[in-house]
Amino acid sequence: MTVSCTGNGMYRNYRYFAMDTVVTICLPADMDEKQASAAADRCSRILSDIEMHLSSKNENGGVYILNHSEEHFSADDVIAEITAKSESIRVLTDGAFDYTLSPLIELWNVTGGGPVPAQSDISDALSRTGADKVRAGENGVELYDGAGLDFGGIGKGYAAVLITEELKSSGIPYGMVSVGGNISVWGEKPDGTEYKIGIKDPENTDSVIGYVYLDAGFVSVSGDYERFFEENGKRYHHIIDGSTGYPAESGLHSAAVISSDGTEADALSTALFVMGEEKALEFYRLGKADFEAVLVADDGRIIMTDGIKDKFEFYEGAVN
Ligand code: ADP
Ligand code: MG
Repeated sequence: MTVSCTGNGMYRNYRYFAMDTVVTICLPADMDEKQASAAADRCSRILSDIEMHLSSKNENGGVYILNHSEEHFSADDVIAEITAKSESIRVLTDGAFDYTLSPLIELWNVTGGGPVPAQSDISDALSRTGADKVRAGENGVELYDGAGLDFGGIGKGYAAVLITEELKSSGIPYGMVSVGGNISVWGEKPDGTEYKIGIKDPENTDSVIGYVYLDAGFVSVSGDYERFFEENGKRYHHIIDGSTGYPAESGLHSAAVISSDGTEADALSTALFVMGEEKALEFYRLGKADFEAVLVADDGRIIMTDGIKDKFEFYEGAVN
């Protein structure tokens, strides 16, 4: 996914590293420079705050503490909110999105470069996953039987929503933000055109397969091409299929989700990637969630849901 907010000098851009990823904030170029940079700073603080609550990697992160402390209990309100949202999406997607896969995610250690775990360790980690080991109530979230939570598949979308709300409520008339490829756009641009969001080509990440045109809303992409390690010529990426305990092999290279709900867009992109083409299209047809999608299959085919066909432009260099 690319953020082309350099166009026509329309934006003032801020870029930094937060939540373990690159964040880009594109604000109107005619905004007062001090105000724009103050707004970007507020976003940065919001992101650090979310990271403090939701990180499962940072030892001071709320989720890390929940997963590793003796009590296995947290009264953190952000964790409670994201747990509730994650649980509803887990149910909606029949477990394709599963925030209880932390034991498997830690075992695979994809960002740390692997290696492929022993089958017995995978089986053991699998036995510690499952929402039946999570109790979320009014007082907080409690874990049982070696369970752990991981919000890597939803937290950046949630962050994109919060910083978009912050920027909109500060009266910034239009703009674009990206939190590690979770994109948000809002407001009418001075030239009146729609936002043009590039969807990366998984086979050649310097290029795109095409563009999605949007007035407002969110786009999230999940793929096998950004975080992975290789062993014996095989690629092991970071999106786990909770039904097998292995990185999902669903026949998809990437799944982009377009939605007015950015938290859902993030979680659903992960879910569709796990489901694969057939199940993802079936899930779309069921209409239980309001979204559109652009899928790229391992064989290079580009599959779109009905509602995005008019809003998608193939990159002229793409083969399809
Ligand atoms: P990225 O983090 O690269 O933007 P995703 O949004 O698809 O990609 O999230 C992938 C992350 O979500 C993984 O790094 C891991 O933390 C977590 N995760 C892995 N598999 C699943 C799954 N089946 N359901 C929910 N979260 C998952
Ligand atoms: Mg996601």
